Amino acid sequence: MDHTHPHGKPISILTFSDNKEVIVDNRELEKIFNHPEIQDRKVVILSLIGAFRGGKSFFLDYCLRFLYAHFPSINNPSKPTQFFFRKDNNWMGKPDEPLKGFSWRSGAKRETIGINIWSDVFLHTIDRTGEEVAIFIMDTQGLFDNDSTPTDNSRIFALGTLISSIQVLNLKQQIQEDQLQYLQFATEFAQFNAKKNGRMDGKPFQNLTFLIRDWQNFDDYEFGPNGGKKYFEEEVLKIKSSHAPELRSVREFVKNSFEEIGCCLLPYPGMDVAGSKNYDGKWSKMDQTFKNELKHVIEHLLMPEKLTLKKINSQKLAVKEVKVYIQRYLKLFQSGEIPKTPTLYQFILESNMSNLIKKCIEQYKAGIYNFDLKHEEDIPKAHKRGKYLATQMYDDEDKMGDRQQKESFKYQLNQKLEEIYEEFKNVQERRFRELNKVAERHRIQLEEE
Ligand code: GDP
Ligand code: MG
Repeated sequence: MDHTHPHGKPISILTFSDNKEVIVDNRELEKIFNHPEIQDRKVVILSLIGAFRGGKSFFLDYCLRFLYAHFPSINNPSKPTQFFFRKDNNWMGKPDEPLKGFSWRSGAKRETIGINIWSDVFLHTIDRTGEEVAIFIMDTQGLFDNDSTPTDNSRIFALGTLISSIQVLNLKQQIQEDQLQYLQFATEFAQFNAKKNGRMDGKPFQNLTFLIRDWQNFDDYEFGPNGGKKYFEEEVLKIKSSHAPELRSVREFVKNSFEEIGCCLLPYPGMDVAGSKNYDGKWSKMDQTFKNELKHVIEHLLMPEKLTLKKINSQKLAVKEVKVYIQRYLKLFQSGEIPKTPTLYQFILESNMSNLIKKCIEQYKAGIYNFDLKHEEDIPKAHKRGKYLATQMYDDEDKMGDRQQKESFKYQLNQKLEEIYEEFKNVQERRFRELNKVAERHRIQLEEE
Protein backbone atom coordinates (compact mmCIF):
# COMPACT_ATOMS: atom_id res chain seq x y z
CA MET A 1 0.00 0.00 0.00
CA ASP A 2 1.43 3.40 -0.93
CA HIS A 3 1.02 5.82 1.91
CA THR A 4 3.02 8.66 0.43
CA HIS A 5 1.12 11.89 0.37
CA PRO A 6 1.66 14.16 -2.64
CA HIS A 7 2.23 17.34 -0.61
CA GLY A 8 3.78 16.48 2.71
CA LYS A 9 5.04 14.07 5.29
CA PRO A 10 5.30 13.90 9.05
CA ILE A 11 8.55 15.36 10.35
CA SER A 12 9.83 14.36 13.72
CA ILE A 13 10.96 17.34 15.78
CA LEU A 14 11.19 15.60 19.13
CA THR A 15 11.54 11.99 20.20
CA PHE A 16 11.95 10.21 23.50
CA SER A 17 14.74 7.71 23.53
CA ASP A 18 14.25 4.39 25.33
CA ASN A 19 15.71 5.77 28.51
CA LYS A 20 13.33 8.70 28.15
CA GLU A 21 15.83 11.27 27.13
CA VAL A 22 14.47 13.98 24.88
CA ILE A 23 16.06 14.26 21.46
CA VAL A 24 15.31 17.42 19.54
CA ASP A 25 15.81 17.92 15.83
CA ASN A 26 16.06 21.64 15.23
CA ARG A 27 17.08 21.47 11.58
CA GLU A 28 13.76 20.03 10.50
CA LEU A 29 11.86 22.55 12.54
CA GLU A 30 13.88 25.36 10.97
CA LYS A 31 13.13 24.06 7.49
CA ILE A 32 9.39 24.21 7.99
CA PHE A 33 9.27 27.44 9.99
CA ASN A 34 11.77 29.34 7.82
CA HIS A 35 9.70 29.19 4.66
CA PRO A 36 9.74 32.78 3.36
CA GLU A 37 6.03 32.73 2.51
CA ILE A 38 4.95 32.44 6.12
CA GLN A 39 7.39 34.52 8.20
CA ASP A 40 5.01 37.33 9.05
CA ARG A 41 1.84 35.27 9.20
CA LYS A 42 0.02 34.71 12.46
CA VAL A 43 0.01 31.14 13.68
CA VAL A 44 -2.50 28.35 14.24
CA ILE A 45 -1.04 25.14 15.62
CA LEU A 46 -3.37 22.19 16.04
CA SER A 47 -1.87 19.52 18.23
CA LEU A 48 -3.46 16.13 18.71
CA ILE A 49 -2.06 14.33 21.69
CA GLY A 50 -2.74 10.93 23.17
CA ALA A 51 -1.71 7.33 23.60
CA PHE A 52 -0.44 5.02 20.92
CA ARG A 53 -3.16 3.32 18.83
CA GLY A 54 -5.82 5.77 19.81
CA GLY A 55 -6.71 6.61 16.22
CA LYS A 56 -4.79 9.90 16.26
CA SER A 57 -3.08 9.60 12.89
CA PHE A 58 -6.32 8.38 11.37
CA PHE A 59 -8.15 11.45 12.67
CA LEU A 60 -5.39 13.85 11.62
CA ASP A 61 -5.34 12.42 8.10
CA TYR A 62 -9.00 13.33 7.75
CA CYS A 63 -8.14 16.77 9.13
CA LEU A 64 -5.57 17.04 6.34
CA ARG A 65 -8.28 16.15 3.81
CA PHE A 66 -10.39 19.00 5.16
CA LEU A 67 -7.48 21.43 5.00
CA TYR A 68 -6.30 20.44 1.50
CA ALA A 69 -9.87 20.74 0.21
CA HIS A 70 -10.20 24.30 1.51
CA PHE A 71 -6.82 26.02 1.72
CA PRO A 72 -3.70 26.46 -0.40
CA SER A 73 -0.47 25.41 1.29
CA ILE A 74 3.24 26.10 0.87
CA ASN A 75 3.67 22.85 -1.06
CA ASN A 76 0.45 23.25 -2.99
CA PRO A 77 0.23 26.94 -3.84
CA SER A 78 -1.82 26.37 -6.96
CA LYS A 79 -5.06 26.15 -5.02
CA PRO A 80 -6.65 29.59 -5.19
CA THR A 81 -7.14 31.46 -1.92
CA GLN A 82 -10.79 31.71 -1.06
CA PHE A 83 -11.50 35.30 -0.27
CA PHE A 84 -14.76 34.31 1.28
CA PHE A 85 -14.63 30.85 2.73
CA ARG A 86 -16.99 28.45 1.05
CA LYS A 87 -17.40 25.02 2.53
CA ASP A 88 -16.85 22.14 0.16
CA ASN A 89 -19.26 19.47 1.34
CA ASN A 90 -17.31 16.77 -0.45
CA TRP A 91 -14.09 17.42 1.42
CA MET A 92 -13.94 13.85 2.72
CA GLY A 93 -13.07 12.72 -0.77
CA LYS A 94 -14.07 9.60 -2.65
CA PRO A 95 -15.57 6.67 -0.71
CA ASP A 96 -12.76 4.24 -1.51
CA GLU A 97 -9.80 6.58 -1.40
CA PRO A 98 -7.11 5.10 0.87
CA LEU A 99 -5.98 7.36 3.69
CA LYS A 100 -2.59 9.07 3.46
CA GLY A 101 -0.60 11.36 5.68
CA PHE A 102 0.69 10.81 9.20
CA SER A 103 2.14 7.31 9.08
CA TRP A 104 -1.26 5.76 9.35
CA ARG A 105 -1.44 2.03 9.33
CA SER A 106 -3.31 -0.73 11.05
CA GLY A 107 -1.31 -3.19 13.09
CA ALA A 108 0.03 -3.22 16.60
CA LYS A 109 3.62 -2.08 16.18
CA ARG A 110 4.46 0.58 18.69
CA GLU A 111 5.61 3.78 17.10
CA THR A 112 8.10 6.31 18.33
CA ILE A 113 6.99 8.58 21.07
CA GLY A 114 7.35 12.24 20.47
CA ILE A 115 6.19 15.10 18.30
CA ASN A 116 5.66 14.97 14.56
CA ILE A 117 4.77 18.02 12.57
CA TRP A 118 3.23 18.00 9.09
CA SER A 119 5.82 19.31 6.63
CA ASP A 120 3.26 21.31 4.68
CA VAL A 121 1.73 24.51 6.08
CA PHE A 122 -1.73 25.79 5.14
CA LEU A 123 -2.38 29.40 4.23
CA HIS A 124 -5.52 31.28 5.06
CA THR A 125 -6.69 34.87 5.27
CA ILE A 126 -9.32 35.54 7.91
CA ASP A 127 -12.40 37.06 6.26
CA ARG A 128 -13.31 39.37 9.08
CA THR A 129 -9.93 40.86 9.96
CA GLY A 130 -7.82 40.24 6.87
CA GLU A 131 -5.17 38.64 9.08
CA GLU A 132 -2.95 36.21 7.20
CA VAL A 133 -2.38 32.95 9.02
CA ALA A 134 -0.29 29.83 8.70
CA ILE A 135 -1.81 26.57 9.92
CA PHE A 136 0.43 23.84 11.34
CA ILE A 137 -0.61 20.31 12.25
CA MET A 138 1.12 18.34 15.00
CA ASP A 139 0.82 14.70 16.03
CA THR A 140 2.01 14.12 19.56
CA GLN A 141 2.35 10.62 20.81
CA GLY A 142 2.54 10.30 24.54
CA LEU A 143 3.47 7.25 26.47
CA PHE A 144 0.18 7.12 28.35
CA ASP A 145 0.64 3.43 29.00
CA ASN A 146 1.33 1.21 31.96
CA ASP A 147 5.07 1.63 32.09
CA SER A 148 5.08 5.40 31.92
CA THR A 149 4.89 7.59 34.97
CA PRO A 150 2.45 10.47 35.27
CA THR A 151 5.45 12.80 34.92
CA ASP A 152 6.28 11.47 31.45
CA ASN A 153 2.74 12.10 30.33
CA SER A 154 2.46 15.47 31.99
CA ARG A 155 5.72 16.48 30.42
CA ILE A 156 4.65 15.79 26.88
CA PHE A 157 1.23 17.26 27.55
CA ALA A 158 2.81 20.45 28.94
CA LEU A 159 5.00 20.78 25.89
CA GLY A 160 2.02 20.31 23.56
CA THR A 161 0.08 22.95 25.48
CA LEU A 162 2.92 25.46 25.32
CA ILE A 163 3.43 24.98 21.59
CA SER A 164 -0.12 24.71 20.26
CA SER A 165 -3.05 27.07 19.95
CA ILE A 166 -5.54 24.22 19.68
CA GLN A 167 -4.67 21.31 21.93
CA VAL A 168 -6.79 18.22 21.30
CA LEU A 169 -6.52 15.45 23.85
CA ASN A 170 -7.45 12.12 22.26
CA LEU A 171 -8.97 9.70 24.78
CA LYS A 172 -10.71 6.32 24.75
CA GLN A 173 -14.30 6.02 25.96
CA GLN A 174 -14.27 8.58 28.75
CA ILE A 175 -12.23 11.12 30.66
CA GLN A 176 -10.49 9.38 33.54
CA GLU A 177 -9.62 11.03 36.80
CA ASP A 178 -5.87 10.67 36.40
CA GLN A 179 -6.00 12.20 32.93
CA LEU A 180 -7.09 15.47 34.46
CA GLN A 181 -3.75 15.50 36.17
CA TYR A 182 -2.11 16.40 32.85
CA LEU A 183 -3.87 19.72 33.11
CA GLN A 184 -2.17 20.55 36.35
CA PHE A 185 0.76 22.14 34.58
CA ALA A 186 -1.55 24.43 32.63
CA THR A 187 -3.58 25.48 35.64
CA GLU A 188 -0.52 26.07 37.78
CA PHE A 189 1.03 28.13 35.06
CA ALA A 190 -2.13 30.19 34.65
CA GLN A 191 -2.38 30.90 38.36
CA PHE A 192 1.24 31.89 38.63
CA ASN A 193 0.90 34.12 35.59
CA ALA A 194 -2.16 35.88 36.94
CA LYS A 195 -0.57 36.46 40.33
CA LYS A 196 2.70 37.73 38.90
CA ASN A 197 1.13 39.99 36.34
CA GLY A 198 -1.38 41.27 38.83
CA ARG A 199 -4.38 40.59 36.65
CA MET A 200 -6.78 37.71 36.36
CA ASP A 201 -7.83 38.14 32.72
CA GLY A 202 -5.56 37.10 29.81
CA LYS A 203 -5.64 33.30 29.95
CA PRO A 204 -2.26 31.89 28.91
CA PHE A 205 -3.54 29.10 26.66
CA GLN A 206 -6.10 29.12 23.89
CA ASN A 207 -8.18 26.11 22.98
CA LEU A 208 -8.36 22.75 24.73
CA THR A 209 -10.61 20.07 23.26
CA PHE A 210 -11.15 16.59 24.63
CA LEU A 211 -11.79 14.17 21.80
CA ILE A 212 -13.38 11.01 23.13
CA ARG A 213 -13.40 7.95 20.89
CA ASP A 214 -15.75 4.96 21.08
CA TRP A 215 -18.22 6.89 23.20
CA GLN A 216 -20.80 4.51 24.61
CA ASN A 217 -22.95 6.58 26.87
CA PHE A 218 -24.85 8.12 23.98
CA ASP A 219 -28.24 7.76 25.65
CA ASP A 220 -27.21 10.41 28.17
CA TYR A 221 -24.92 12.53 26.04
CA GLU A 222 -25.31 12.70 22.28
CA PHE A 223 -22.33 12.40 19.90
CA GLY A 224 -20.50 15.48 18.68
CA PRO A 225 -19.49 18.76 20.31
CA ASN A 226 -22.81 19.54 21.99
CA GLY A 227 -23.13 16.28 23.86
CA GLY A 228 -19.46 16.55 24.68
CA LYS A 229 -19.75 19.98 26.20
CA LYS A 230 -22.66 18.85 28.32
CA TYR A 231 -20.80 15.72 29.46
CA PHE A 232 -17.71 17.74 30.32
CA GLU A 233 -19.59 20.29 32.36
CA GLU A 234 -21.97 17.91 34.10
CA GLU A 235 -19.72 14.95 34.75
CA VAL A 236 -16.11 15.99 34.58
CA LEU A 237 -15.87 19.49 35.99
CA LYS A 238 -18.19 18.92 38.91
CA ILE A 239 -16.26 18.89 42.18
CA LYS A 240 -17.03 15.97 44.43
CA SER A 241 -15.96 15.40 48.01
CA SER A 242 -14.12 12.26 46.96
CA HIS A 243 -11.70 14.18 44.75
CA ALA A 244 -8.06 14.48 45.73
CA PRO A 245 -7.05 18.08 46.51
CA GLU A 246 -4.87 18.51 43.42
CA LEU A 247 -7.67 17.32 41.14
CA ARG A 248 -10.05 19.65 42.88
CA SER A 249 -7.84 22.61 42.22
CA VAL A 250 -7.38 21.55 38.60
CA ARG A 251 -11.16 21.56 38.25
CA GLU A 252 -11.36 24.94 39.87
CA PHE A 253 -8.73 26.58 37.73
CA VAL A 254 -8.94 24.87 34.37
CA LYS A 255 -11.35 27.52 33.14
CA ASN A 256 -8.80 30.22 33.95
CA SER A 257 -6.12 28.50 31.92
CA PHE A 258 -7.76 28.12 28.52
CA GLU A 259 -9.79 30.64 26.60
CA GLU A 260 -12.02 27.88 25.36
CA ILE A 261 -12.61 24.32 26.46
CA GLY A 262 -14.56 21.86 24.38
CA CYS A 263 -15.27 18.17 24.26
CA CYS A 264 -16.35 16.07 21.27
CA LEU A 265 -17.79 12.58 21.45
CA LEU A 266 -17.21 10.16 18.59
CA PRO A 267 -19.02 6.83 18.20
CA TYR A 268 -17.41 3.44 17.74
CA PRO A 269 -16.27 3.46 14.09
CA GLY A 270 -17.30 -0.09 13.17
CA MET A 271 -15.47 -3.40 12.91
CA ASP A 272 -13.49 -2.56 9.79
CA VAL A 273 -11.96 0.60 11.17
CA ALA A 274 -11.40 -0.75 14.67
CA GLY A 275 -10.24 -4.22 13.85
CA SER A 276 -9.41 -5.15 10.30
CA LYS A 277 -5.70 -5.60 9.56
CA ASN A 278 -6.08 -4.67 5.91
CA TYR A 279 -8.16 -1.57 6.43
CA ASP A 280 -6.74 1.34 4.44
CA GLY A 281 -8.72 4.18 5.99
CA LYS A 282 -11.40 4.62 3.33
CA TRP A 283 -14.66 6.03 4.57
CA SER A 284 -16.87 3.59 2.70
CA LYS A 285 -15.99 1.09 5.44
CA MET A 286 -16.97 3.31 8.34
CA ASP A 287 -20.25 2.98 10.17
CA GLN A 288 -22.53 5.67 8.82
CA THR A 289 -23.00 7.39 12.18
CA PHE A 290 -19.26 7.48 12.72
CA LYS A 291 -18.62 8.96 9.30
CA ASN A 292 -21.17 11.71 9.87
CA GLU A 293 -19.86 12.53 13.32
CA LEU A 294 -16.24 12.50 12.17
CA LYS A 295 -17.14 15.01 9.48
CA HIS A 296 -19.05 17.14 11.95
CA VAL A 297 -16.29 17.13 14.57
CA ILE A 298 -13.53 18.02 12.10
CA GLU A 299 -15.62 20.88 10.74
CA HIS A 300 -16.29 21.97 14.30
CA LEU A 301 -12.54 22.12 14.95
CA LEU A 302 -11.25 23.52 11.67
CA MET A 303 -13.85 25.81 10.14
CA PRO A 304 -12.14 29.19 9.71
CA GLU A 305 -14.05 30.86 12.53
CA LYS A 306 -12.75 28.13 14.85
CA LEU A 307 -9.09 28.59 14.00
CA THR A 308 -7.64 29.95 17.20
CA LEU A 309 -4.49 32.03 16.79
CA LYS A 310 -1.47 31.30 18.95
CA LYS A 311 -0.93 33.92 21.63
CA ILE A 312 1.88 34.37 24.07
CA ASN A 313 1.21 36.83 26.85
CA SER A 314 -2.07 37.81 25.11
CA GLN A 315 -0.25 38.78 21.93
CA LYS A 316 -0.68 37.16 18.56
CA LEU A 317 2.80 36.40 17.34
CA ALA A 318 4.15 35.77 13.85
CA VAL A 319 5.68 32.50 12.65
CA LYS A 320 9.25 33.81 13.00
CA GLU A 321 8.62 34.76 16.63
CA VAL A 322 6.77 31.58 17.56
CA LYS A 323 9.65 29.56 16.14
CA VAL A 324 12.04 31.06 18.67
CA TYR A 325 9.74 30.19 21.56
CA ILE A 326 9.25 26.62 20.34
CA GLN A 327 12.98 26.08 20.02
CA ARG A 328 13.55 27.34 23.52
CA TYR A 329 10.70 25.28 24.96
CA LEU A 330 12.17 22.17 23.37
CA LYS A 331 15.52 23.00 24.85
CA LEU A 332 14.04 23.55 28.30
CA PHE A 333 12.34 20.16 28.14
CA GLN A 334 15.53 18.42 27.14
CA SER A 335 16.73 18.58 30.70
CA GLY A 336 14.24 15.88 31.67
CA GLU A 337 11.81 17.28 34.21
CA ILE A 338 8.96 19.58 33.37
CA PRO A 339 10.56 22.95 33.89
CA LYS A 340 9.19 24.48 37.06
CA THR A 341 6.48 27.04 36.52
CA PRO A 342 8.60 29.95 37.78
CA THR A 343 11.43 28.96 35.42
CA LEU A 344 9.09 28.83 32.46
CA TYR A 345 7.44 32.05 33.48
CA GLN A 346 10.78 33.80 33.83
CA PHE A 347 11.87 32.48 30.46
CA ILE A 348 8.72 33.71 28.68
CA LEU A 349 8.97 37.03 30.46
CA GLU A 350 12.57 37.52 29.40
CA SER A 351 11.91 36.56 25.76
CA ASN A 352 8.95 38.85 25.77
CA MET A 353 10.81 41.79 27.23
CA SER A 354 13.84 41.39 25.02
CA ASN A 355 11.50 41.46 22.00
CA LEU A 356 9.88 44.62 23.29
CA ILE A 357 13.19 46.31 24.10
CA LYS A 358 14.43 45.54 20.59
CA LYS A 359 11.33 47.14 19.09
CA CYS A 360 11.67 50.23 21.33
CA ILE A 361 15.31 50.67 20.33
CA GLU A 362 14.32 50.60 16.66
CA GLN A 363 11.72 53.21 17.43
CA TYR A 364 14.29 55.37 19.21
CA LYS A 365 16.74 55.12 16.31
CA ALA A 366 14.05 56.08 13.83
CA GLY A 367 13.29 59.06 16.07
CA ILE A 368 16.85 60.41 16.24
CA TYR A 369 17.93 59.66 12.69
CA ASN A 370 14.84 61.23 11.21
CA PHE A 371 15.19 64.36 13.32
CA ASP A 372 16.08 67.37 11.25
CA LEU A 373 19.33 68.57 12.88
CA LYS A 374 20.01 72.17 11.95
CA HIS A 375 22.45 73.13 14.70
CA GLU A 376 24.56 71.36 17.26
CA GLU A 377 22.04 72.44 19.89
CA ASP A 378 19.44 70.25 18.17
CA ILE A 379 21.27 67.05 19.11
CA PRO A 380 19.69 66.76 22.59
CA LYS A 381 16.31 67.59 21.03
CA ALA A 382 16.63 64.57 18.74
CA HIS A 383 17.38 62.44 21.79
CA LYS A 384 14.36 63.80 23.57
CA ARG A 385 12.14 63.03 20.59
CA GLY A 386 13.51 59.50 20.17
CA LYS A 387 13.18 58.79 23.85
CA TYR A 388 9.62 60.01 23.85
CA LEU A 389 8.69 57.65 21.01
CA ALA A 390 10.46 54.68 22.56
CA THR A 391 8.96 55.25 26.00
CA GLN A 392 5.52 55.61 24.55
CA MET A 393 5.90 52.29 22.79
CA TYR A 394 7.17 50.65 25.96
CA ASP A 395 4.33 51.99 28.06
CA ASP A 396 1.64 51.06 25.55
CA GLU A 397 2.61 47.42 25.26
CA ASP A 398 1.07 44.74 27.47
CA LYS A 399 3.90 43.55 29.67
CA MET A 400 4.40 40.57 31.93
CA GLY A 401 5.83 40.75 35.39
CA ASP A 402 5.28 42.74 38.57
CA ARG A 403 6.00 46.44 38.99
CA GLN A 404 9.56 45.94 40.07
CA GLN A 405 10.35 43.76 37.05
CA LYS A 406 8.72 46.25 34.70
CA GLU A 407 10.75 49.06 36.22
CA SER A 408 13.94 47.09 35.91
CA PHE A 409 13.38 46.40 32.21
CA LYS A 410 12.57 50.06 31.68
CA TYR A 411 15.83 50.95 33.35
CA GLN A 412 17.66 48.54 31.02
CA LEU A 413 15.97 50.14 28.03
CA ASN A 414 16.98 53.61 29.15
CA GLN A 415 20.58 52.52 29.66
CA LYS A 416 20.67 51.17 26.12
CA LEU A 417 19.13 54.36 24.72
CA GLU A 418 21.74 56.47 26.52
CA GLU A 419 24.51 54.34 25.04
CA ILE A 420 23.12 54.75 21.54
CA TYR A 421 22.69 58.44 22.17
CA GLU A 422 26.27 58.84 23.35
CA GLU A 423 27.51 57.40 20.09
CA PHE A 424 25.05 59.41 18.02
CA LYS A 425 26.05 62.57 19.86
CA ASN A 426 29.76 62.02 19.26
CA VAL A 427 29.24 61.42 15.55
CA GLN A 428 26.95 64.41 15.16
CA GLU A 429 29.16 66.75 17.19
CA ARG A 430 32.14 65.76 15.09
CA ARG A 431 30.10 66.37 11.98
CA PHE A 432 29.06 69.86 13.16
CA ARG A 433 32.68 70.65 14.13
CA GLU A 434 33.82 69.68 10.64
CA LEU A 435 31.06 71.73 9.11
CA ASN A 436 32.00 74.69 11.30
CA LYS A 437 35.64 74.34 10.33
CA VAL A 438 34.75 74.33 6.66
CA ALA A 439 32.51 77.34 7.14
CA GLU A 440 35.26 79.14 9.07
CA ARG A 441 37.82 78.44 6.37
CA HIS A 442 35.35 79.67 3.80
CA ARG A 443 34.79 82.86 5.76
CA ILE A 444 38.52 83.56 6.09
CA GLN A 445 38.97 82.93 2.40
CA LEU A 446 36.20 85.40 1.60
CA GLU A 447 37.74 87.98 3.95
CA GLU A 448 41.16 87.63 2.38
CA GLU A 449 39.79 88.11 -1.13
P1 GDP B 1 -2.37 6.34 16.65
O1 GDP B 1 -1.33 5.40 17.11
O2 GDP B 1 -3.05 7.01 17.80
O3 GDP B 1 -1.87 7.31 15.63
O4 GDP B 1 -3.52 5.47 15.99
P2 GDP B 1 -3.81 5.17 14.43
O5 GDP B 1 -4.44 6.34 13.78
O6 GDP B 1 -2.60 4.60 13.81
O7 GDP B 1 -4.95 4.06 14.55
C1 GDP B 1 -4.76 2.84 15.22
C2 GDP B 1 -5.89 1.89 14.89
O8 GDP B 1 -7.13 2.36 15.43
C3 GDP B 1 -6.15 1.71 13.39
O9 GDP B 1 -6.37 0.37 13.15
C4 GDP B 1 -7.40 2.53 13.13
O10 GDP B 1 -8.16 2.00 12.06
C5 GDP B 1 -8.15 2.38 14.43
N1 GDP B 1 -9.06 3.48 14.72
C6 GDP B 1 -9.10 4.73 14.18
N2 GDP B 1 -10.06 5.47 14.74
C7 GDP B 1 -10.65 4.70 15.69
C8 GDP B 1 -11.74 4.90 16.62
O11 GDP B 1 -12.33 5.98 16.72
N3 GDP B 1 -12.03 3.84 17.42
C9 GDP B 1 -11.39 2.64 17.36
N4 GDP B 1 -11.79 1.67 18.17
N5 GDP B 1 -10.38 2.41 16.51
C10 GDP B 1 -10.01 3.42 15.69
MG1 MG C 1 0.07 7.62 14.92
